[in-house]
Amino acid sequence: APKQKGSTHAYGTEKTEYLMDRNIHKAFPVIIRGKGNYLYTKDGRIILDTTTGAAVSCLGHGDKRVIQAIARQMETGITYLATSFFGNNTVEALCKELINGTDRQMARVYLTGSGSEAMEAAVKLSRQYFYEQDQNTRRVSYIAREGSYHGNTLGALGISGHVARRAPYLPFLMKNVHHVSSCNFYRQRQGRETTDAFVARKAAELDAKFQELGPETVIGFVAEPIVGAALGCVPYVPGYLKAMRKVCHKYGALFILDEVMCGMGRSGTLHAWQAEGVAPDLQTIGKGLGGGYQPIAAVLISKKVFDVFSDGSGQFVHGQTYQGMPIQAAAALEVQKIVREEKLCDNVRIQGDYLGQLLKQLLGNHPNVGDIRGMGLFWGLEFVKDRDTKEPFDPKIGVAQKIQELALSEPHNMTIYPGTGTAGGLSGDHVMLCPAYIVTKEDIHHIAHTTAAVVKEFFSHGL
Ligand code: PLP
Repeated sequence: APKQKGSTHAYGTEKTEYLMDRNIHKAFPVIIRGKGNYLYTKDGRIILDTTTGAAVSCLGHGDKRVIQAIARQMETGITYLATSFFGNNTVEALCKELINGTDRQMARVYLTGSGSEAMEAAVKLSRQYFYEQDQNTRRVSYIAREGSYHGNTLGALGISGHVARRAPYLPFLMKNVHHVSSCNFYRQRQGRETTDAFVARKAAELDAKFQELGPETVIGFVAEPIVGAALGCVPYVPGYLKAMRKVCHKYGALFILDEVMCGMGRSGTLHAWQAEGVAPDLQTIGKGLGGGYQPIAAVLISKKVFDVFSDGSGQFVHGQTYQGMPIQAAAALEVQKIVREEKLCDNVRIQGDYLGQLLKQLLGNHPNVGDIRGMGLFWGLEFVKDRDTKEPFDPKIGVAQKIQELALSEPHNMTIYPGTGTAGGLSGDHVMLCPAYIVTKEDIHHIAHTTAAVVKEFFSHGL
C-alpha cells in the first residue's frame, strides 16, 4: 500500500460551487489522481477505494492497458458512429465477447450508455416481444420486487420498488407495475424455516401475484439476483432464481434479471445467474462492463426473444444517439479481456470468501451488526439497534452516512458505500464493500480490519 504523507485537513475539504449534484451542502475530498485501489486527494491523502464508486471500477483506477485501448481507438479517428448506418469491428468484437461470456445462453447484445437506459430498453424489448407476436396482446404489466432499484429514469424507476426514490415522482410512474416481496433471508425468514421452504414460499407468492393479475396480462418478472444499493448486498437464496423462472415460464412471461450492479464478475461468476445455471430471457448489465473507463451498459437478449424479432419486423422500436460507440466498446472490450484472461472471477471468489470470513470473525458478535451477507466481492453489513428484535435505527440519524464519513476521514482513509433504510423500511442502515477484482489477500485484510475498527469506533460513542 502506498504510504500516507499525512495531512492537516479533516475529511471534507471542498464544496462544489457549480455542480448540481445529489448533495450540494456536503464537502468532499477532491480527487486528483487514481491508481489501482487508491485515490489521491488534492490535500495529499491516499484513500483506499473499497467501493469502486458504486461497484464500477472493477479493475481499479488508471489501468494502462484500458487507457491504451481507448487511445488506439481514438487514433482510428472513430470514437462515434451511428449504429443505424454503419458497422464497426470493435463494437462487434465486444458483442461477441459478451455472448461468449454467457456460454452462448444469450444471443444478442443491445448497447446503451447507462444501467438505467439498459433497463428502459429491457422494458420496451419485453413489451415488443409480445407485441411482435400479437398486436392485440393483453400483456401490459410487470411484476418486480419491493426494495429494488433498477435506475433513475422514469421507466426504470417505475419498475423499481425503492420507496424513497419513487416518492417525488409517483404521479408519473408506470401504473402497471406490481411488486412482490424481495428475497431477504435475514429479514423475512419465518422461525427456523429452511432455505427450501423459504424459496417455496417466495415462488408461491409470485404464482399468486400472476393469478391475481391474470397470467395472460403479465409481460415479465424483474429481479436483481443480489440486491445492491437498495438493501445492501442481499443475495438470492439458493434455488430462488430457478424457482422464480419456473413460475414465469409456466405463465409464458419473461424472466428478466437486472445484473447492472451484481454482474460482470462482481458475484464471483461472470454473471450471477451462472452460479445457479439459470439463464434469463433478458438481462441488463452495466457498471463493471466498462469498469468506469467509459459509460457503457447493455441488454443481453436470449435466442427466444431475439427469434421473435428476427422472424418478424427485425426492428426494435427504440434507439438513442449515444449507443454502441466504438470508444465505449474499445474500453469495455479491453476490460472484459483482462477479466477473462487474468481469471479475475476466480480472484473475486477467493478474496470475496476471505473478506466474508474476516468480517464475520471481526464483527459477527457486535451488538449493532445484525447481518453480514454477500457473494464474491460484494458484501453488506446491516446495522440494528438490537440483534434479537432486528429493530433498525431511525433513518433520520443517518448511521450509514456517518460510518461512511468516519471511514473516509483520517486515519482510516477508506471508502465505504452507505445505504440508509430508505428503500421502504425493508432493511436497516447498511454499508457495502465492493472493491476492485484485483485486490490481494493483504488488501482484504486491511479492508476488513479498517471496517471493523470504524464500526467499533462509531458505536462506542453511543447514539
Ligand atoms: N440497476 C441496478 C441494480 C443498479 O444498481 C443501478 C445503479 O446503481 C441501475 C440499474 C442504474 O444504472 P445507472 O446508474 O448506470 O443508470
